[in-house]
Amino acid sequence: MNHNDGKIVTRFAPSPTGYFHVGSYRTALFSCIFARQNGGKFILRIEDTDKERSKKEYEENIIESLEWLGLKYDAFFRQSDRTEIYKKYIQKLIDSGHAYISQETPVKEGGSIAATTKSTTRAEVIRFRNPKNKVSFEDMIRGKVEFDTTELGDFVIAKSIDEPIFHLVVVVDDIEMGITNIIRGEDHISNTPRQILIYEALGFTPPKYAHLPLLLGKDRSKLSKRNGGASITEYRRRGYLPEAVVNYLTLLGWHPKDDKEFLTFEEIVKEFEINRIQKGGAIFNEEKLSWFNHQYLMRLTDQNFLDLASPFMPEWLSGGSTLNKRLASILKEKISSFGDITNIFSVSGELGFINELPQYPNDMLFWKKDPSVANTKTHLEKSLDILVRLEKEVGEYGFTADAVKVALWSYAETAGKGNVLWPLRVALTGQERSPDPFISAFLLGPEETKERLNNAISKLK
Ligand code: GLU
Repeated sequence: MNHNDGKIVTRFAPSPTGYFHVGSYRTALFSCIFARQNGGKFILRIEDTDKERSKKEYEENIIESLEWLGLKYDAFFRQSDRTEIYKKYIQKLIDSGHAYISQETPVKEGGSIAATTKSTTRAEVIRFRNPKNKVSFEDMIRGKVEFDTTELGDFVIAKSIDEPIFHLVVVVDDIEMGITNIIRGEDHISNTPRQILIYEALGFTPPKYAHLPLLLGKDRSKLSKRNGGASITEYRRRGYLPEAVVNYLTLLGWHPKDDKEFLTFEEIVKEFEINRIQKGGAIFNEEKLSWFNHQYLMRLTDQNFLDLASPFMPEWLSGGSTLNKRLASILKEKISSFGDITNIFSVSGELGFINELPQYPNDMLFWKKDPSVANTKTHLEKSLDILVRLEKEVGEYGFTADAVKVALWSYAETAGKGNVLWPLRVALTGQERSPDPFISAFLLGPEETKERLNNAISKLK
């Protein structure tokens, strides 16, 4: 048996029956934080006794997601490797009269009798002999919780000596692994009395419990794919930063005393207080998560941002060009996750013009208040002239959005801002909507800027 030497030991015990989602991750996070802040241990235990629903693929997804989010565990177990251990405990319960073998129709995981009206085959199951006590425990979040176990009857703990099911394996493992604090979802509250009865029958004191409020979707029903919850893999694919996901999820059901919103994992570990977790469900709001992620992106240095964004950048931007350096700060402002990059650079996207000047009709160049060909042409020629001189003076690297603006400003003010800046912007971007002409010229660089202006001027001949 695994002794805990008086240290706190917590565990996260997912069943690998689906892709790892944000709700499970939050449970893992709170268990881990509690262990870390107490100098204890945190265990990952894969609960795969339900052979039909458990899949290796999902187990891998759990492990991979925890790694991406930076959640480290100190030990790893898989229940399907531990059948021999459970067998000993089942035998012990049978020998002490706390469990018995019963002949009946086959049962399903969870202890319910399968609906087998056609089949009359009888099989052996092992049932726990319920002493029908009142059971109570002190929940770290909810306070005292009491149950009358009479109605639970003699519940099933194994399909056979080699096939233990949920309640038994959870208790055996929590005993064997020296778990001191069980932190899990509120959906397990009703399992707790059965599990306490098994502890008592085996002669062990149950650990402390904390049942976390569920994560709810926008419609206040249990969070699922349908009401806004997604798998961790999905957020990873959409280019969220793991630190932002971790930060946001810890604030669902808990918040630090000073209401500070941005916290590193280390700060969370320091400030976390389990008994301040709220009892009511917490609403998962994807827009809020995106906002968090955007704030995290804004805090990255340009270089860091570009490194992390690079797998999401279109091919024509690959290779760390000067263009990328110009783009970093502008792009950061515009996206909430790296996944938005694809759209922004698509042909119809806001920054698609950088790659390729869209075909635009000549009359798009005319400012609505002064649609004259001659004036438009004059303004474009004058702008070109100013920018050619600017480039000579400051060189390629000095050709910043600010420098472009300063160079053009007095002419634009004299000749009318719309008259000058509208045709200039259309000449550079070919779009009705785009970043302002200064940023656009900066992003394109002096060469491309000159070329596009010449191109527009020649259109007006
Ligand atoms: N395997 C259970 C689940 O995935 C958790 C059991 C527990 O935490 O006690 O919901």
